[in-house]
Amino acid sequence: MFEPGCSETKELTGSFTLFNQMKMKFIHYPDRPEKLTKEFVEQEFAKLNARIASAENSDSPKEWIALYTDLNALSGYYSGEASRINYAHSQDMTNKKWDEADKYFREQVTPAMENGSAAMVDAILESRHKEAIGKHFGPYLIDQLMTTVDPLAPVNSELRVKANDLVDKYDKIVSSGEVTVQGKTMTLARARAMQSDSNAETRKDAWFAYRKWFLDHHDEIAGLFDGMVKLRDQMGRNLGHENFIPLGYLGMRRTDYGPDEAKAFRDSVRQYATPLLARLYAAHAETLGTPTLKPWDVGYHPEYSLPTGIAPVEKQLDSAQHVFEEISPRLAAHFSRMRADGLIDLENRKGKRAGAFCTMMPDEERVSIFCNSTGDEGDVGTLMHEMGHAFQAWESQKIESVDLRWPTSDGAEIHSMGMEFLSKPHMTWFFNPEQSRKFRQNHISDAVSLMCYISTVDEFQHWVYENPNATPERRDQAWCDIWDTYIPGQDFSGIEEYKYARWYAQGHIFGTPFYYIDYAIAQTAAMQIGMMDAEDHEKALATYIKLCEIGGTKSILNIFKAAGLRSPFDPTTMRDLMDYAASELGVGEMAEAA
Ligand SMILES: [Zn+2]
Repeated sequence: MFEPGCSETKELTGSFTLFNQMKMKFIHYPDRPEKLTKEFVEQEFAKLNARIASAENSDSPKEWIALYTDLNALSGYYSGEASRINYAHSQDMTNKKWDEADKYFREQVTPAMENGSAAMVDAILESRHKEAIGKHFGPYLIDQLMTTVDPLAPVNSELRVKANDLVDKYDKIVSSGEVTVQGKTMTLARARAMQSDSNAETRKDAWFAYRKWFLDHHDEIAGLFDGMVKLRDQMGRNLGHENFIPLGYLGMRRTDYGPDEAKAFRDSVRQYATPLLARLYAAHAETLGTPTLKPWDVGYHPEYSLPTGIAPVEKQLDSAQHVFEEISPRLAAHFSRMRADGLIDLENRKGKRAGAFCTMMPDEERVSIFCNSTGDEGDVGTLMHEMGHAFQAWESQKIESVDLRWPTSDGAEIHSMGMEFLSKPHMTWFFNPEQSRKFRQNHISDAVSLMCYISTVDEFQHWVYENPNATPERRDQAWCDIWDTYIPGQDFSGIEEYKYARWYAQGHIFGTPFYYIDYAIAQTAAMQIGMMDAEDHEKALATYIKLCEIGGTKSILNIFKAAGLRSPFDPTTMRDLMDYAASELGVGEMAEAA
């Protein structure tokens, strides 16, 4: 499947009815009000602000360090509360009490926190003790705080609200979308899942219904996007940039790579991953017995796909326990604690929010995950993925600054995707040996196609913001042209418009511009861990744990460096990873690149 199976974000923090309140011990704000209110947040910021002048006047940085420590405690309290409320709400979206709590938190508490924090960040960045604060909490803290300034620039306040309204409209249209597949009316998400059905007619129907929905709504969605592009372009210009791109990169909090490195990365994908994908597609068509690979057949591979219901939900946690014990007793202990403390909500049920995520409560020093398991093979990958995030979050609890516990999104996905690789040799706890082989091959084949698809999305986004005045038709053409350079093996003959329908379904392009290459960068680290594990488990595990401990204290390239991983931007890295994938998939060594 094409898309990162991951809807969790650090922002998408959650909360809990499962949590045993008696067990909670708060390290931040142990004496706290019954409910975190807007007024309480404002009052705490007023106290913090009142200390700035004195801290600034002092020749010693001590007062400033104490001030940041208290700001950090407030952030920990806020973010723990955000996690708990969101989690409880996600567990039952129909629960009025949590619905109201969530709405109050989003509309009242969060803006108060953002405004207060923005003013404090400005004061820190202007402070003569800035370096000392960085020295105490980690120098990367200052780099990270700097990336938050431009994306929140007051000059663009109004434009941001307008752009967010357009994103909201897009979300609402897509989330309410319904299609009919084989006589049944269903959500877009359900139709999408059916695109991997083992029945050829079913997946073809589902594929056409899904994409046709986007073609039917094309003009409306294209109009919304056109508005977003123009607003974002203006925001970039307002800050003195030629276009939106530099601001888009800052929005992703990137500090050590820009469009040139991203382009070099994509070139390496085109050079090494695309030819391999073309061969995999040819082999896929052969297995299906079709002359070419039709796009609606991409989601099902008879050699790799496992039957539905293969991993009963009630057995998943026990099987996962065995997997983690075999990988590392240290990591398994985190999992045991999560099970004992009720920090895992696994099974899909009515009223539960869709998707999966991991969240931390810094004020309790606890971590939880949320899944929607139904008993299919995809659940296993998702559980490993979310636990990868959780292992990092547990190991990063000792980092004092809450701002440095989660890495930027490119770094955060290393632990999740890395755990998908580390757990691969232990899949016999879930499947029989033959099924385990299929599962592993499916995963590695996905890794190859993902590289190519992510690059398509990334190059398209650059094109869009380099050409903000292009017409919607021209944009669709650009998508198709770019697609063809990365993903040459799908046969769209006679249905060309269904090719560009795809990008309208890619929510990141609308809601979080430039977010996507992150998954591919993280995958280069995850695959390196997988390769290392095949040679030397102890070394791979030590690397993984080191990555977990680093958390968000370093920039992405420094994370790679500190863990002894090869840079994602060195083309020989991609070459070797694709050689590895080719041999794992039994398609031999890559042909010598021309
Ligand atoms: Zn993830």
